[in-house]
Amino acid sequence: MSAIKKIRSIRLTNTLTGKKEVLETYRPGQLTFYSCGPTVYGFIHIGNLRGGLVADQFYRYFQRVGYDVQFVRNYTDVDDKIINKGREEGISPEEVAKKYTQEVEKDFAVACMLEPTHKTTVTTHIAEIIALIKKIIEHGNAYVAKDGEVLFSISSFKNYGQLSHKKLDDLIAGIRVEVTEKKQNPLDFTLWKPAKPGEPFWDSPWGKGRPGWHIECSAMASKWLGDQIDVHHGGEDLVFPHHENEIAQSEAASGHGPFVKYWLHHAFLTLSKEKMSKSLGNVFTARDFLTQFSGEFARYLLLSVHYRSQIDFGPEAVEQTLTGLQRIYEAKARAQQLLKQSRARADLRAEAAWGVFAASCEKARTEIDENFANDFNNPGALAALFTVIREFNRTLAEPLAQATPSAILGAQELIRLMEEDIGGILGIGRSEPEKALADLSRIRVISRPQVANAVARPTEDEIRQAIEDRAAARKAKDFAKADQIRKDIESRGVIIKDSPSGTTWEYR
Ligand SMILES: [Zn+2]
Repeated sequence: MSAIKKIRSIRLTNTLTGKKEVLETYRPGQLTFYSCGPTVYGFIHIGNLRGGLVADQFYRYFQRVGYDVQFVRNYTDVDDKIINKGREEGISPEEVAKKYTQEVEKDFAVACMLEPTHKTTVTTHIAEIIALIKKIIEHGNAYVAKDGEVLFSISSFKNYGQLSHKKLDDLIAGIRVEVTEKKQNPLDFTLWKPAKPGEPFWDSPWGKGRPGWHIECSAMASKWLGDQIDVHHGGEDLVFPHHENEIAQSEAASGHGPFVKYWLHHAFLTLSKEKMSKSLGNVFTARDFLTQFSGEFARYLLLSVHYRSQIDFGPEAVEQTLTGLQRIYEAKARAQQLLKQSRARADLRAEAAWGVFAASCEKARTEIDENFANDFNNPGALAALFTVIREFNRTLAEPLAQATPSAILGAQELIRLMEEDIGGILGIGRSEPEKALADLSRIRVISRPQVANAVARPTEDEIRQAIEDRAAARKAKDFAKADQIRKDIESRGVIIKDSPSGTTWEYR
């Protein structure tokens, strides 16, 4: 008789149905999970880091509840932005992609993200992409334009708009439609595009070219996870058109659906209430963030909010993270001290008090798990931990309630709640309290003004003024002051470049 692993039932909010549903995978005990990764043309920002961490938590929790998980995350390593960056930096697009993939991986490692089962790239899946496009054409869902561009035919796919819950006319009204005679329908999108001179290309039945953006995820998902997958995740900005297009491509190619059973989307991260974007200049890179704070700080700040709620990054979020982590580590330090004390003789009143506490730990364990299982309600899980921490501090304050056998048990239970129940999923609370608290004091002193600064992005006038002041300081040979001015302005997301023709700047 084969052993059937019991799997804890969990509920997820599915963008496809708009409902919270009980997760039932295609194959019992196994779960296939795809998450859209970054385009590697520069340092990722903290919004991208949020996406990575949300996927990391999903992965950890799917495993905890008992699934055998296959998790794929991709890197988009050929794209217009990469080609442009290569021209800017005077290196090839491949070198750009390689360089920034490494940088992204460094950030992910500092943020203690687990390695996915498969990390995939577009350039290593060209054959699969071409095969998929061929199938889509064969099934009558795509057409080849004169110049060799292959376009998906939206009107051939009847359920287009199912994920974003919009009618075709509304979708058309909502996009900037490229006016081109090539397109049979304005929403038709590119599967394969002919190469322009100087661009990377691959041979294909439609001439030399490269894949459009959307097709890569359909190809990689079906190669590693099959035609139908259980869970697909990405940022809410990917619902349309990226994920809508993935569904169209995959279902057109396989001839059956649904391509994905559960679609999960996380909300934006804003910087002082504005959406972060490179063109607005208000971008906080993950690298800056992780350097100023720490991986654990990032995990708390980005995961203590429900994944479907917006996070506004600013001094308030930093303050809440400082307070939260400090409460955890101060209690952990007290619990560890209690474990080091020599055991007192069991005192009946103390034993009773700690007996009550042990029962609270058990209750907290259940509550934490129920919150995670309820569409990853992290704020609820953390609230359960903080309730039990308050009770621990109260019990410890009783003069009789020191190092009795039950107190030792209580301290052990509390540490376990922090390190395993919460820590194993959110990746926080697992450090040594002494070091963690020292880090937090450093952050409190140094990083707070820096955050306020970074969030208050300088205006162009301020930047010009800073450049003038710096030039004046250099002229007066006050290089320390000149350096300081440069550092200050750069810490607020501006890059200053000196050249023989003068000093230029740009928002990072
Ligand atoms: Zn994708």
